[in-house]
Amino acid sequence: MSKASEAILQISKEDSLLQTNRKKLKALPEKKRKIRIPLKRVESVLDKLKEQEEEICGQIRERETLVEVENEKIKRSDERMLAVKNQKEYVASQKEIETARKTIKKVEDQILELEEKKNAITSELIQILEEYKQTKATVGEAEKEVLSEEKKFLDKIETYQKMKDKLLPQIDPDLVDTYNLLTNRKIIPAAVEISNPSCMGCALSIPAQLFNEIIRDSVGKCPHCGRLLFYKEPEKPKEDPKDKAKKKAKSKAKKKNPVAKAN
Ligand SMILES: [Zn+2]
Repeated sequence: MSKASEAILQISKEDSLLQTNRKKLKALPEKKRKIRIPLKRVESVLDKLKEQEEEICGQIRERETLVEVENEKIKRSDERMLAVKNQKEYVASQKEIETARKTIKKVEDQILELEEKKNAITSELIQILEEYKQTKATVGEAEKEVLSEEKKFLDKIETYQKMKDKLLPQIDPDLVDTYNLLTNRKIIPAAVEISNPSCMGCALSIPAQLFNEIIRDSVGKCPHCGRLLFYKEPEKPKEDPKDKAKKKAKSKAKKKNPVAKAN
C-alpha cells in the first residue's frame, strides 16, 4: 500500500477516535453541572437556615429594644414618684411601672422562646455546615477528575491535529478534498480498507466490476456512502498454533544469528 493511502487511512482511523473524544468533551459541562447538584442542594438548605436564624435574631433584637424602652419608662416613673404632688399622680406612676413590668415579663418570655428556636436552628446549621464541607470536598474531587478528563481529551485532540498536519502533505490534494467533504458530512471514518466486495463503512455490497477496479487502482469510492475504499489483501488463514510456535522458534534463532556474527 502506498504511503499516501496509509496516511489517509491513519487519519481516518483517528477521526473516529477524535469524534468520540469530541463527544465526550461536549458532554463534560453537563457532567460538571450534575456534579454540583448535591452541593447546590446543601447550599440552599444552608441559606434557608441562615435566613431563619437571621430573622429570629432580628425578632430577638426588636424585643430587647422593647425591654430597654420599658425599662426607661420605669426609670422615668421612678423619678416622677420622688416628686409626686398628690395621691393621684402617685397611683398613675405606679400603674405605669406595673404595666411596663408586665410588658417586660411578656417580652422576655418571648425572647426565651425565640432563643430556644434559635438554638435549634444553630445546631441544625452546624450539622448542615459539616455536610456542606463534606459535600464540597467530594464535589471538588469529582470536579478535579472532570478537569483531568478534559485535559486528556484536549491533549488527544491536539496530538491528532499535529498528526493530521504531518500526514496531510503526503496525500494527493484531490483525495484530501474528497476526504474533507465526507468528514464534513459526518461520514466518519471516511476512508476504510476492504478485502471483500463490501463497504466496511456502510456494510453494503460493492458491484464486482467496481471491486475489480478498486483492486487494480487500490483505491475507489463506495457507490452507496461515498467513502474512500482502499484495497487490502485478505489476511492469510490463521496458522495452526503448533506451526506458529515452530515459526517463532525459527525466527528467534534467525534473530540471534546476526548478533553472533556481529560479535
Ligand atoms: Zn459505503
